[in-house]
Amino acid sequence: MKLGTSRFKLWFLFFFSVIFIVALSWLLIHRLESDKPTITTSLKSGVIGVSQKITITVADESSGLRQIRAGLVQNGKERLLIDKTNFAQVDLLGRGGTLKDTFPITVTPKKLGLTDGPANLRIVASDQSWRNWGKGNHQNIGKKIIIDTHPPEIDILTRVHNIQQGGAGLIIYKVSENCSLSGVYVGENFFPGYSGNFKDPYVLMAFFALDYRQGPETALYLQATDEAGNTSKAGFPFHVRAKKFKKDTITLSDRFFERKMPEFKTYFSANENLSLSEQFLKVNQKMRQENYQQLVKITATTDNTLYWSGDFLRFPNSAPRAGFADHRTYKYKGETIDHQVHLGVDLASLKHAPVPSANKGKVTFTGRIGIYGKTIIIDHGFGLFSTYSHLSRISVKKGQPVSKGAIIGNSGMTGLAGGDHLHFGMMIHKTFITPIEWWDAAWIRKNITNKIEAIKKDT
Ligand SMILES: [Zn+2]
Repeated sequence: MKLGTSRFKLWFLFFFSVIFIVALSWLLIHRLESDKPTITTSLKSGVIGVSQKITITVADESSGLRQIRAGLVQNGKERLLIDKTNFAQVDLLGRGGTLKDTFPITVTPKKLGLTDGPANLRIVASDQSWRNWGKGNHQNIGKKIIIDTHPPEIDILTRVHNIQQGGAGLIIYKVSENCSLSGVYVGENFFPGYSGNFKDPYVLMAFFALDYRQGPETALYLQATDEAGNTSKAGFPFHVRAKKFKKDTITLSDRFFERKMPEFKTYFSANENLSLSEQFLKVNQKMRQENYQQLVKITATTDNTLYWSGDFLRFPNSAPRAGFADHRTYKYKGETIDHQVHLGVDLASLKHAPVPSANKGKVTFTGRIGIYGKTIIIDHGFGLFSTYSHLSRISVKKGQPVSKGAIIGNSGMTGLAGGDHLHFGMMIHKTFITPIEWWDAAWIRKNITNKIEAIKKDT
């Protein structure tokens, strides 16, 4: 009996010791976790301008946050941005802490007494682990930044900028520092400038266009934004020439509708009970708008390589059928049913005539675009594009380089075309321009290539 009791006591003691050791080990392992807090910032460029919004996010999944401190250090002096210690305390088991905190702050260098130049963004965070004699795990990041509160300077290198309504122009300029975006504003329309054509990376070139609707009152100016977000504007001398565009009447017939509208059948839903002329109107208006939006997307990206040289080729042995920016009135059964503007040149040759690329470039799109039918778009670099529509056949692929005069397809009447012809268009990014200037070697020399060559000599 005696032996039994002491044995029982021993077992009892042993049993509880094991439980105690297991519990203590668990607690120590758990509360002595070594995962450091993580720190992320929204700062991408590393350059801070006049005023910069930064979001700092600190997280600690294991034991919760204890302290966060962030500051900007310049010349050994720290300007405090964040200093937070009043986080929720965790209980003995490590529960109830703040696992994540976000700090949206606005840094205004001038208010903080910082000057233009390098500085260091330092962020320190600790968690509620028992490590480091109860001070927790530390995370520490330092980020080199540049404070730049001065807008870039713009030096215009080209002297003459003549442009006509629906026409193109070129400007070359130099910026005083790296710019995240710069270019020409033509009224509301922005034309980005690109480096790449000159040795000096601060010398940029921008092709720009005056929309056919923009008259001589249009304001043109350059704008440059540096990486810190500082923006400056600069005017430049320009001369805008107004242009009157032709008027044209297109007479629609049931025969045309019957022949053409089946091609657009998939554009209409089955329950849409539209007459042929109503179908035509929807294609000529709504689809035309949608097609334009597609062109805007396609011509948004360009190569900063000046692929082309010399004048652009006109579709060989062709007769003009319609001009650029012809203002068209559509008549059906003696009544005016629509008005649209024709933003290309229609050229007719033989049926299924081979179509050459107007100049050297890179194919950036092939496929059907609604009213334009089978279409090829060529990027000639620096935002200049040529488009070939209503084709019967496309013989090039996207991404393919093409030389001047290379056969890229055959003319046809796909899309909203009444007969076999090539609809040839030119664009500077999203703005349609008249191809006539680009068919004219003298115009190109005077307005484009002479300007580039004059600057190439010194840069
Ligand atoms: Zn056309």
